[in-house]
Amino acid sequence: MSSEIFAWPTDTRRITSGYRTIERPTHHGIDIADPGKHPIFASASGRISRSYKSDSYGECIFMEHQINGQIFETVYAHMQTGSRAVSVGEKVSQHTQIGVMGNTGDSNGQHLHFELHKGKWNASKTNAVDPLKYLEKSMAVLSKSNNKTQTLYLPKDAKTWTVYKLDRPPVKNNKANWAGVLKPSKFGGLQYEVLDTPYRDIVTIQTRDFGKVNIYVASGTGAVMR
Ligand SMILES: [Zn+2]
Repeated sequence: MSSEIFAWPTDTRRITSGYRTIERPTHHGIDIADPGKHPIFASASGRISRSYKSDSYGECIFMEHQINGQIFETVYAHMQTGSRAVSVGEKVSQHTQIGVMGNTGDSNGQHLHFELHKGKWNASKTNAVDPLKYLEKSMAVLSKSNNKTQTLYLPKDAKTWTVYKLDRPPVKNNKANWAGVLKPSKFGGLQYEVLDTPYRDIVTIQTRDFGKVNIYVASGTGAVMR
């Protein structure tokens, strides 16, 4: 388990809002949302630097990490009331559950607001970085390193499937990040060779109409990878 890699902080990969998007330039983290109960995990090993309830962050935990001499700080916000499972000063290893996804503080609907700071957190968030650039790559990357070519199948009952520009975070609500919309049903389903896996559950494919794009293929979407 490498501490150089930040692990995904919950068990769902559905990103509903990206880092400093055009619509939300002051959104200094990413939002990950799904209904149901979702544990929040320590993204890397480290020390709990804050654990409190704020009007904006709600029930939140901050963690400090030392990675190859560089300090990072992660923030996990809007947790369920009473779910914070660690206290300030505690040393916690990567993947440890520290809370449960919730809807506390300034939040409309259950989600995890996750921030990553290169350096310490500060009120003006000057050290914030895009978590998607640091979070672990998908399992599909591991299978690719075994020299297995994977094919992505989009089912014929799917009417539309959004694809994303390679240089933008794949955020569904942010149309500026869209490269286009595929129409699997029109073609009795579609299939593509998987070229890369830039993020967990996101793969890169070559499309006829939009060129090279990223596409969200998590289980539950109906996408099949073989
Ligand atoms: Zn957020």
